[in-house]
Amino acid sequence: MKESKTDVLIIGAGVGGLCAAAKLITKGIKVIVAESLPYVGGRFSSRDCNGFQVTTGAIMVPYGETSIFNESFDDVGVKMRVREAKGGFQYKLQKGTYTVPDKGGLFGMINFALEDEEKAKEIANLFKHAMTWMMPSDAISFKEWLMQYTDNQDLHDLFQGYIGAFIGVNAYECPTAELFRFLRDGMTRFKFGVSIHGNADLMDSLAEGVTNKGVRLSTETYCKKIIVENYRAIGAIIEKNGVEETVYADHIISNVGPNMTVELSGEEHFERSYMTLLKERQSVTPVIHLAICAREPLHDFPGIICTGGTRRLVFMESPTMTCPELAPEGWHLSNTFSVPANTTGPLRLEETIEFVKQDILDFFPKFKEAEVLLQATHHREWPAMRRWPGFPMPTKTPVENLYNVGDGCMPRGFVGIEAAAMSSKDVVEDILIRG
Ligand SMILES: Cc1cc2nc3c(=O)[nH]c(=O)nc-3n(C[C@H](O)[C@H](O)[C@H](O)COP(=O)(O)OP(=O)(O)OC[C@H]3O[C@@H](n4cnc5c(N)ncnc54)[C@H](O)[C@@H]3O)c2cc1C
Repeated sequence: MKESKTDVLIIGAGVGGLCAAAKLITKGIKVIVAESLPYVGGRFSSRDCNGFQVTTGAIMVPYGETSIFNESFDDVGVKMRVREAKGGFQYKLQKGTYTVPDKGGLFGMINFALEDEEKAKEIANLFKHAMTWMMPSDAISFKEWLMQYTDNQDLHDLFQGYIGAFIGVNAYECPTAELFRFLRDGMTRFKFGVSIHGNADLMDSLAEGVTNKGVRLSTETYCKKIIVENYRAIGAIIEKNGVEETVYADHIISNVGPNMTVELSGEEHFERSYMTLLKERQSVTPVIHLAICAREPLHDFPGIICTGGTRRLVFMESPTMTCPELAPEGWHLSNTFSVPANTTGPLRLEETIEFVKQDILDFFPKFKEAEVLLQATHHREWPAMRRWPGFPMPTKTPVENLYNVGDGCMPRGFVGIEAAAMSSKDVVEDILIRG
């Protein structure tokens, strides 16, 4: 069997894996990345569907000076080919539409739903109180928290749409503090953009940046086993084109999710408290994605639209309004996301998709003339996020020198791509400190 030696072996070239590679290589650390798929980016890539660049997962791309994801591109001297999502945010309820202004958005949203300025001020103050004085605990859901102050259906619907679209669960499932942490930290740190030529282009450019700096990155390379001796990770067996290779490494960073990391290493190497936590925190956030193509945009707002008071639909966005490059000339691409009624129960897929289509017709009647290009159910090993928000696994594992990165270890208050990049930064800092 082939053998090699490196400082750090990274398993998986998703956002977490590639951001870790970018940070390590600029510190002069020798890195090998093994990715099982023929492409990099994982749930943040795209494929060509009849000339449309359709995402494998994420749509809103965090970027800007304070974005850690952006920082990884800067680390390897690659410019992010993203364009700011024009228009910002809009909320649609059965009774009408609210476009969020540059300032005063939270109060405006609440007042739009309540149509009662005094009550809206009271609720907006309670939000401020939670974010600046004392965060409510995660012991109750956001829906329960809000019910203490109002049972106004429109306001509950509005936050159901918001939480579904940004946090990936229902309002009755969302740990209260997680919404406030997200509003305070997660939403304010960066701008949202759209990948101009598709997500694959963006992640390919990051991969090119890291390989130009000296990372050995190999696709279609499957990690079969992480080798553990005396509670220490010492290497892994990877396979490409039927040829096995043992890679010995001082540190191993796994981007395949905490469950798969245990599977690859063998459960017997993980002490009981970690395994108990892993089993307690099994829930992922499933989402149903419809990519829709049409000659006319389905709506006239170029930003992100959250919908409330629907059966299942929570999110609509038409990236071609910002980046026409993503579709053949004269065509538009729209994406919708929907959250199942119960994110931990059976998905009841047929029913959910039927409901989603009815919701889209109700809110976006031009859907009648459109075509569904792709219908994707993201769950199990390819979910929207690998853990419920507020219930991440730690990046360190009980096996010495073995770390996890990615959205299975999201810092609280952050989600998706940015959270995956942040987990990598933490791990790299730990590796640098430990030497
Ligand atoms: C429908 C949907 C919509 C989303 N929308 C957004 C959004 O708008 N904005 C946002 O910020 N986030 C969004 N997200 C979340 C975002 O896509 C993810 O949080 C992020 O991409 C997760 O990256 P990751 O590093 O955890 O790894 P992943 O993308 O899961 O990558 C892991 C990689 O490891 C590889 N791998 C697995 N097993 C092995 C093995 N044994 N050997 C070698 N390689 C292996 C996989 O092939 C994969 O490439 C969305 C997700 C989905 C699914």
